[in-house]
Amino acid sequence: MREFQTMEIVPKVHFNDTATAFSYKTDQQLKKAHFIFSLVNHPWVSAVATGAARLALALGLPVKGLIRATVFEHFCGGETIAQSEKTIQTLSKFHVGTILDYSVEGEKSEAGFDASCEEILRTLDRSRGHQSIPFCVFKMTGMADAALLEKIQAKGTLNEDEKTRFQHVRDRVEKICARAASYDVPILIDAEETWIQNPIDQLATEMMRKFNTKKAIVFTTIQFYRTDGLAKLKEAYHDATMHNYFLGVKMVRGAYMEKERERAEKMGYASPIHPTKEATDECFNKGLAFCLDNKQRITVMCGSHNEYSNQYLSVLMDKHGLANNDGRVWFAQLLGMSDNISFNLAKEGYNVAKYVPYGPVEAVMPYLIRRAHENTSVAGQSSRELGMIRKELRRRKGK
Ligand SMILES: Cc1cc2nc3c(=O)[nH]c(=O)nc-3n(C[C@H](O)[C@H](O)[C@H](O)COP(=O)(O)OP(=O)(O)OC[C@H]3O[C@@H](n4cnc5c(N)ncnc54)[C@H](O)[C@@H]3O)c2cc1C
Repeated sequence: MREFQTMEIVPKVHFNDTATAFSYKTDQQLKKAHFIFSLVNHPWVSAVATGAARLALALGLPVKGLIRATVFEHFCGGETIAQSEKTIQTLSKFHVGTILDYSVEGEKSEAGFDASCEEILRTLDRSRGHQSIPFCVFKMTGMADAALLEKIQAKGTLNEDEKTRFQHVRDRVEKICARAASYDVPILIDAEETWIQNPIDQLATEMMRKFNTKKAIVFTTIQFYRTDGLAKLKEAYHDATMHNYFLGVKMVRGAYMEKERERAEKMGYASPIHPTKEATDECFNKGLAFCLDNKQRITVMCGSHNEYSNQYLSVLMDKHGLANNDGRVWFAQLLGMSDNISFNLAKEGYNVAKYVPYGPVEAVMPYLIRRAHENTSVAGQSSRELGMIRKELRRRKGK
């Protein structure tokens, strides 16, 4: 199994070129990034800081300024689209697109869901006709009650009120996808927890059938840490073939591993997550190969900070004779992470975009906490980030 991930490939892109990776950051900004990653690198600091921040916000203590000036500024564009403009322009200067991500999670009221929907429509308005924003994105739980989605997945009987509420969810999703299609701006639908994912997948499929007849406008997301990840990709492809539409697929490994395992254990069902990282990696990389093998119908976005997978995709493109900028292949990372991948790929002419989350500080907290968590030394990402930042700081000092 290990062999798949470590299969020898001749790297096409230099991910260790830190000068390119951080060319958009001033010395000051780079030092700040160093400070943030040094902080979250310690699991206990990360846990205490995120817990304290959550509590302080809940108690109404004045910590917003501190959060805004540190992690928020590093991982987010701003609190509004207007405040994110500077980031959009900076990324665009280096041929890195922005994926405008209104990152508010866990809304509860119908009015809140309608407001989220309106905001996502505004991201589409801002993207229309602008190459600097090649995609928009939304999370279903920004527009639907997670408990309702869970009930639907569990095949519970919906009462009249629940039926109406789910119809409203479908209406919101359709409104967004219709506008995306009319503007010719592709829209990504994020993947979430397995116990609410079926209705999300069903809605994504409905929308793809409707709006992807000429090209991939609506993109579903598949998580490859799921043991059924590869099967889901093949099913999605089969559906696209049967109903003659283009499949848009964002491939990710998956962000909710611990939560998934905990719930499975607590409720006594088999974990839906691969038992090892190697198994997830193998599935993910096989998924990339499957997409390119079926490139006549699939447009793929590789949403990953894994250097091997990104490198492997560029090698696959070569094997298939695709130009670096072939519109059927996109590479995507999150703002504030893996700049060495994004900026070096962009320099070589690949299609690259970064999620630029935005929203009120307190509403973006779940997103920030996930980033803090995956950047601890245990998860491994921050050591990689720190290594790159330190290398670049040394390089600049030596100049
Ligand atoms: C552009 C973009 C969009 C994203 N959209 C979504 C989304 O819609 N939904 C979503 O859930 N996530 C999303 N993510 C997050 C993503 O799922 C991963 O959590 C994150 O990117 C880390 O995985 P990686 O491929 O970057 O690299 P790596 O650092 O190589 O992989 C880490 C990942 O591997 C998996 N893993 C780690 N340890 C194990 C283990 N012991 N056993 C099995 N698997 C393991 C986990 O998924 C973990 O997150 C997105 C990420 C990006 C960059």
